[in-house]
Amino acid sequence: MELLSKRLAGLSESQTMAMNQKTQDLQAQGVDVVNLSVGEPDFFTPDHVKAAAKEAVDKNFSFYSPGDGYADLRKAVVAKFKNENGLEYTPQQVIVSNGAKHSLANAVMSVVDEGDEVIVPAPYWVTYVELVKLAGGVNVVLRTTLATDYKVTPAQMEAAITPKTKAFLLCSPSNPTGSVYSKAELEAIANVIAKHPRIIIIADEIYEHINFAGKHESIAQFDTVKDRTVVINGVSKCYAMTGYRIGYLAAPLWLAKACSKLQSQFTSGPSSIAQRAALKALTTESSFTEDMKEVFKRRRNLVLQGLSEIPELKFNVPQGAFYVFPDVSAYFGKSDGETVVRNSADLSLYLLSKGYVATVSGDGFGEPNCIRISYATADEKLSKAMASMKAAFAKLK
Ligand code: PMP
Ligand code: GLU
Repeated sequence: MELLSKRLAGLSESQTMAMNQKTQDLQAQGVDVVNLSVGEPDFFTPDHVKAAAKEAVDKNFSFYSPGDGYADLRKAVVAKFKNENGLEYTPQQVIVSNGAKHSLANAVMSVVDEGDEVIVPAPYWVTYVELVKLAGGVNVVLRTTLATDYKVTPAQMEAAITPKTKAFLLCSPSNPTGSVYSKAELEAIANVIAKHPRIIIIADEIYEHINFAGKHESIAQFDTVKDRTVVINGVSKCYAMTGYRIGYLAAPLWLAKACSKLQSQFTSGPSSIAQRAALKALTTESSFTEDMKEVFKRRRNLVLQGLSEIPELKFNVPQGAFYVFPDVSAYFGKSDGETVVRNSADLSLYLLSKGYVATVSGDGFGEPNCIRISYATADEKLSKAMASMKAAFAKLK
């Protein structure tokens, strides 16, 4: 529509959200689809957190919160960073937002100018490149492969940096590949960026607690880059609170202040009720996240087993998050006699229409040879989905 701003004209819809919607529409029509598209825990929010939300309603937390979030919640986030990550921040350096997606948007909008280059390793989470476009920036996409477990190398970074580079977007554990950067790998990347004082690191650590490899490592731990790193996190994934919409960032003070200003004009503080619930989640000892992680690990193994029974798929063994990202390109050009599968978008649609399994095509993640499978769903549904996928792939000749 020609009346739309140029900014919006170039923006793509979130493919994860779109596929989820399509699946839910089909389900509403009575079609029995297993939804492996959207990435959100299928667990219910823990009871003590739900109780805190109800209590907040009763205690009249119905007024605007401070624009950056309640002071006690920001203090709880500071304590989380100190206790879990060994990172020191003041509450002024923490901004609470409407989900980690909003925190990312604040960070990108605050540092990226028209024409600035942003380095984004692919496969990337769908939203990154769209936010950069919205800010007028230029995505410098670094393709990674199975050979490096889909991780970017210091040499690739070095070669991609130009005088226009303004930011670097890093996701570990990664959506969509589940790759987890080790401390040594992060240090090597930090050492490259340390030589370029105009580059801001935006580190998305939303899957911090869904890490099967061991302890989470943050790139912000390296003094060489800490004062240029924004750490993004939130309660959506680790406490199964996606609908509450609470995320946060910690950043150097000048950048936190910019995000605060932006947020004060764009959204004001996030939901008061959800913030009280997030405070409870962050300040209560509970085995919830750990237990959930164990379940995800079991489900990951179930999906990997299923995929290994489908010939010619190539995939890494994800060490975190709740996705598997198989390379399905061996099937491009094949047909079940009715539908020709030319690319990953076709394959994803084929699996939906013929196998009744919803996945997301790799295009939106910058890797058109793959599809994304979210295994944040019940074991029985996963087993059913893997069996129908196996049958659907077998029909492609
Ligand atoms: N980053 C990544 C990598 C994600 O997968 C998600 C999930 N949507 C987010 C950020 C945003 O999370 P939130 O629900 O807190 O906005
Ligand atoms: N993180 C989830 C996903 O990638 C949620 C969807 C979204 O926010 O785009 O599927």
